Amino acid sequence: MRDVTVSEVGPRDGLQMVKAVVPTATKIRLIEALHAAGLPEIEVGSFVPPKLVPQMADTEEVTRHATTLPGLHVAVLVPNLRGAEAAVAAGAHKITLTLSASEAHSRANLRRTREEQMQVAREVAAHVTARQGRRPMLEAGLSTAFGCSIQGEVPERDVVDMAAALAAAGFDSVGLSDTSGYANPAQVRRLVRAVKAEIGEKCDSLHLHDTMGLGMANVTVGVEEGIRIFDAALAGLGGCPFAPNASGNIVTEDLVFLLESLGLRTGVDLEALVAARRILQEALPGEPLHGNYARAGRPTGWKTAA
Ligand code: ZN
Repeated sequence: MRDVTVSEVGPRDGLQMVKAVVPTATKIRLIEALHAAGLPEIEVGSFVPPKLVPQMADTEEVTRHATTLPGLHVAVLVPNLRGAEAAVAAGAHKITLTLSASEAHSRANLRRTREEQMQVAREVAAHVTARQGRRPMLEAGLSTAFGCSIQGEVPERDVVDMAAALAAAGFDSVGLSDTSGYANPAQVRRLVRAVKAEIGEKCDSLHLHDTMGLGMANVTVGVEEGIRIFDAALAGLGGCPFAPNASGNIVTEDLVFLLESLGLRTGVDLEALVAARRILQEALPGEPLHGNYARAGRPTGWKTAA
């Protein structure tokens, strides 16, 4: 039984930022270890042009393998219709189309205006929802929803309006992404409430970075406001090549520790998760690994949620 879904994005958000191209076999080993640790959902890669992001060139192969792991919800990121078509063909269970709430980030990251990307979103939704029988779950990931390191403030009205348009276009869910890591707890509460007022339960996930060290405080508020899916990366890898000065994702190990401490069952085995860090350590010897739980170890007498 699970009260909250921890969605591991390290193989995508994490590995896209490291200089080395991690071999496919190592990625698969990592995904298998994360799955064995009980993570219910893993974002295994992104269908982006390999010329732009060579670290993701093997996403099709990695996706196909991941879908053979029992019970795993396999998620992928896509920037456009072509990526969505490839994701559907590879058998992904969840497709996240990325859009930016910030005009400046949209142009830098996607080379499209927000309106152009919204048109792409409508095409992707039409393509995926037209499928007969089983179709992947379709999520819109709203980048820079809490602020942008290029343009600064992102008006909350813009985020709410985009979320409403995406829900109307047929997206099953709209995730709010703090790409730059600027969010604070009061803002998370305000924005989640505003978006939920517009699209209800379709506002169900948060993607947080820990640039200002407020990631876990933001999670706590997200839980209070009814968010039930949280993205995180093993050892806090990650970032966005077009969000200068952003640091890594919130740390999966610390997220699980927080959620279980709050009495929310994650289904994740923390010690197995910590052990999986070794795969990263070996594959990326120069990369700093983050995480308080891994450093401090299990507090004396601490128990997971019953
Ligand atoms: Zn991210």
